[in-house]
Amino acid sequence: MGLKIWQNGELVDEAQAKVSVFDHGLLYGDGVFEGIRVYSGNIFEFEAHIDRLYESAKAIRLDIGMDKRPLMDATEETVKANEIEDGYIRLLVTRGVGDLGLNPFVCGKAGVIIIAANIQLYPEEFYETGLKVISANAVRTHPLTLPPQVKSLNYLNNILAKIEAIDHGVGEVVMYNPQGYVAEASGDNIFIIRKGELFTPPIQAGALDGITRQVVMKLARESGYTVTERNLTKFDLYIADECFLTGTAAEVIGVVEIDGRIVGDGKPGAVTKELRKKFFEYARS
Ligand code: PMP
Repeated sequence: MGLKIWQNGELVDEAQAKVSVFDHGLLYGDGVFEGIRVYSGNIFEFEAHIDRLYESAKAIRLDIGMDKRPLMDATEETVKANEIEDGYIRLLVTRGVGDLGLNPFVCGKAGVIIIAANIQLYPEEFYETGLKVISANAVRTHPLTLPPQVKSLNYLNNILAKIEAIDHGVGEVVMYNPQGYVAEASGDNIFIIRKGELFTPPIQAGALDGITRQVVMKLARESGYTVTERNLTKFDLYIADECFLTGTAAEVIGVVEIDGRIVGDGKPGAVTKELRKKFFEYARS
């Protein structure tokens, strides 16, 4: 028995959930999406994710064709139908069915799909041992090309970076912007800790405005840490005392090696562990 998928107004069996070969989401990666966690039956930072989805859609002139509230209701219905207590939601909006041309406005209604499932991004031991990462050759898209804040269905830039991680047998890659500053990882935001203070690249450096990033910054500040958003160089990463990644799927995960340089003592650091713990306390509160 497969999952129940919400598609264009109704819950259908996974095998019945189908997308047209003329959907521009498939033909051109034309659409937007969100990945959202469910913790103890609650949808984590639900409004922030919904707001980001609508902002991404606005930026690419995509009319979702539904107000936020009915979309949130449909999401809750999908989580319940699949009995997800702790899991992951994928909310997708495709441009819809068009023709073989690029023009998005010939597509009829947007296609809306909601998937609620269980996930495990990294094996549990990675959270104990930490991740090794390398610097990607793939440069993060220039904000004038496709703003990295738009969470679009076009993830090729990130996928090319992810392939580098796989080729080198490491968990993630750090992506730099065209100016050479750190942007983010292929699917996560990045933080470093130096002399007890946290640093993370500003969104303008070319990162997705990560919701986990926002939560972690808030929790860190509440715990008395200084958090500064500023441009970071490769050198800043190499001399960091600690480093961690944040993301809906990855949550908070320590980085223990960057381009062959050991971070700290080669294990997830004390601040990383503290913030990871606080993150889960917050998520499950
Ligand atoms: N950057 C990229 C490119 C991502 O795909 C993600 C995952 N959505 C993130 C950062 C982290 O964002 P969030 O914390 O909102 O999941």
